[in-house]
Amino acid sequence: MNPGVRREVLEIYAGVDAAVRAAGPRCDASGRCCRFKEYGHTLFISHFEADLLLESAPPYPTPVSPDGCPFQVDGLCTARESRPLGCRIYFCDPAYEETGNRITEEAIAGLKRIADAHAAGWQYAPLHVFLNAAGRPGTGAADTMSPAGPAGPRRPLPVV
Ligand code: SF4
Repeated sequence: MNPGVRREVLEIYAGVDAAVRAAGPRCDASGRCCRFKEYGHTLFISHFEADLLLESAPPYPTPVSPDGCPFQVDGLCTARESRPLGCRIYFCDPAYEETGNRITEEAIAGLKRIADAHAAGWQYAPLHVFLNAAGRPGTGAADTMSPAGPAGPRRPLPVV
């Protein structure tokens, strides 16, 4: 990722983390929100978030199913430092829902501004789509350093 883009995206992350901290949503630590099928929702991420996630996330088995996140192990996130925006913002606390939606809208608008300013394109898709595009079937790992990985040529994804 271009260092300027990276810095700006990380600024969005920092702003989101601060806004969520200030809102103080309740977390029951059930881990259900990372088990998408069980919970009944989908984690959409942008290509910026995918690139950051895959820079430091642990290896994962492929193909990745849409049912849950492969980085949740024993109920805990193993990619916490680089987790995408939805993971930072979403909490199942009903009293926080409106605030969470607002933080999400502002963060996505910020990412789109970065994409426009740097002519970086825009891809937005469910987590597993990015993970499967980046993973190398047969190795059970995502190679973020190979030309086919997120640092290399981007593969076409559904645009949402
Ligand atoms: S990256 Fe971490 S917080 Fe986000 S869905 Fe996966 S396990 Fe959950």
